[in-house]
Amino acid sequence: MLTVEGLRSRYGRIEVLHGIDLHVASGEIVTVVGANGAGKTTLLRCLSGVQPVSGGTVTFRGDQITTLPAWKRPARGLTQSPEGRQIFTNLSVEENLRLGAYGFADDRVDRDMEDAFQMFPILRDKRNLSAGGLSGGQQQMLAMARALMGRPSCLLLDEPSMGLAPIIVAQIFDVVRSLRALEVTVLLVEQNAFGALKIADRGYVMETGRIVMDGPADALIADPRIREAYLGI
Ligand code: ATP
Repeated sequence: MLTVEGLRSRYGRIEVLHGIDLHVASGEIVTVVGANGAGKTTLLRCLSGVQPVSGGTVTFRGDQITTLPAWKRPARGLTQSPEGRQIFTNLSVEENLRLGAYGFADDRVDRDMEDAFQMFPILRDKRNLSAGGLSGGQQQMLAMARALMGRPSCLLLDEPSMGLAPIIVAQIFDVVRSLRALEVTVLLVEQNAFGALKIADRGYVMETGRIVMDGPADALIADPRIREAYLGI
């Protein structure tokens, strides 16, 4: 579904992605794990089109989209749930969800909103409240639900566990896992390597702008180098 070849990106004169190769097959949950500053967010931003690419290619469902403008990508089925959630804090929960479905017919939006409320029941309780009043975990749920309102075939998820209590992280990861049943393909970027690898099919390990290891998630969890460097075991 998604193939990245030799991807490079830079901030000014400083290159931070030095030729990334990865692929995500339809229906997979694939994670990219790595320490703070490894380049994971930059990678996702290149895939959603908000960060310029200085080399390499991105192919999505058979089309080269390397330079396709960001705003055209969700309509192709590629949607990002960004780091830091980036919800509209002065709008209500429902208004945030409706913005995720911008351009779709109303009856479809109502059905999709019902699905979002089934996935995250707390959002139904808070639907008329200002999104800025939600807890961090609820805001993360809203960011994911808003992305899903666009009916992506591939969801790019940036650090959904960031700053959240372990019990909320477990809930969020359960929802990510459940996306498999909805046939949403997921590329999940995480510093929480253990949590991400536990729900993923495959993983890539990123260090200073390069992929240094990849494989089935259970093999990575069992790898002594990964256990020591990323899992604290
Ligand atoms: P984090 O988990 O903190 O988001 P990350 O793995 O996602 O880390 P990036 O945020 O992609 O890493 O950062 C990769 C490198 O690019 C880091 O060295 C970072 O300092 C640098 N960088 C990120 N954003 C910018 C920017 N806007 N301008 C200049 N350098 C940046």
